[in-house]
Amino acid sequence: MPQTIDSFTGRYAALSLLYRSGFFFEGDEYQSAAAAIEAAKIFNRPDRVSFIGWNCRPWKARTLGKGIPTYWIRPDWNNVEPTVMLEIQRSKFSWPDARDVLLSTEDADLIYGNVCHDNFWGVCKCRSVPTAQRKYGIGARCTGAGEDKLGRILMQVREECKTDPKTQQEMTRHVSFLSPSLTTVLQAASR
Ligand SMILES: [Zn+2]
Repeated sequence: MPQTIDSFTGRYAALSLLYRSGFFFEGDEYQSAAAAIEAAKIFNRPDRVSFIGWNCRPWKARTLGKGIPTYWIRPDWNNVEPTVMLEIQRSKFSWPDARDVLLSTEDADLIYGNVCHDNFWGVCKCRSVPTAQRKYGIGARCTGAGEDKLGRILMQVREECKTDPKTQQEMTRHVSFLSPSLTTVLQAASR
């Protein structure tokens, strides 16, 4: 087990916001954390419809997110965003497939390493990428340090998963009021 995991790809791809695995957030089903966090910005729940469900692929969510009208966005968004991200990650990793990957990281430091100058959720490593492979150029504020809020949230959720293991049966009860069709699928799978 590496002491630090700073690339959410390959066997650790499930840690990425762009990983496709269904979960519920505020009563709606999302395909990726990327879609859920974009939708959560939107104050009026019916206006989140483009981000919900399996038609909204993760990269599409990113693109759509850039086009959300300012007047749709919660006025307190900047203050609540990390808390909302924590709730999204808790929901995503309550599902066995994603949770197993998170738990497989044991006690490793999780760092959302990226090259797109995101030093809020992660740590941008653009300066250490060979020039020819720099897709997004060099960020003026990328010093190799970052707040890594996503990595910290993932480590918090991992600790919660270690002390509060949920079974799929419990999950079935948890989601039963949200999606009758999904409940049927889960019950069929557990027979
Ligand atoms: Zn950068």
